[in-house]
Amino acid sequence: MRRAGKVVRQVLDTVRDTVRPGATTLDLENAAEARLKELGAKAAFKGYHGFPCVLCTSINHEVVHGIPSKNRVLKEGDIVSIDCGAIVDGFYGDSAITVAVGEKIDAKTLRLLEATQASLQAAIDTVKPGATLGDIGAAVQEVVEAEGFSVVRDFVGHGIGTRMHEDPQIPNYGQRGRGMKLREGMVLAIEPMVNAGKPEVEVLKDGWTAITQDGSMSAHFEHTVAVTATGAMVLTE
Ligand code: MG
Ligand code: MG
Repeated sequence: MRRAGKVVRQVLDTVRDTVRPGATTLDLENAAEARLKELGAKAAFKGYHGFPCVLCTSINHEVVHGIPSKNRVLKEGDIVSIDCGAIVDGFYGDSAITVAVGEKIDAKTLRLLEATQASLQAAIDTVKPGATLGDIGAAVQEVVEAEGFSVVRDFVGHGIGTRMHEDPQIPNYGQRGRGMKLREGMVLAIEPMVNAGKPEVEVLKDGWTAITQDGSMSAHFEHTVAVTATGAMVLTE
């Protein structure tokens, strides 16, 4: 799983370098597909429940599961969430980043990116044997809500291993001490999705793209994290 995680990281690093004003989300997809091939890994998303691409690319008020397209051109000041999964020898890695397009990101949107990333780190910092799923959710929620943003409820993180989505579900909200206890050897995909406005989302007619109901900006960061005796081991960094 460390190998799969490393592939995902390398693909996301390549795609990040492709993000610029004027690039399309299909350009990101093509860069990811070429890099996956170069690394000898299989895409986890393409064909999953019929999803057509190796990346999910979600711009601005799109939350997750956006479909790369030659018609979606990135503009200065946009943000784009890029989610990637890879399979190496039957094991999965899953990670996401949200990236500013160009240099002119507005202050609130920058704060949204920073808070979402910080909430993921806070969640990772809670991971150890005996900690609970509620500890993870609470850690995310505290960081996000202190900034006046909101945590998406309709999508959650997940266990991961020889399938992309395994039990348990990992909400980005909760109460400390509640929920299943973590044990050494578990591997979790922790993935806060955070809206600048209200938490509600809806899915577009394409059947995939989730957007914020109030049109506010949304960010998403994800790591695949193993529970070890001494704490978290992040497999996708
Ligand atoms: Mg993902
Ligand atoms: Mg995931």
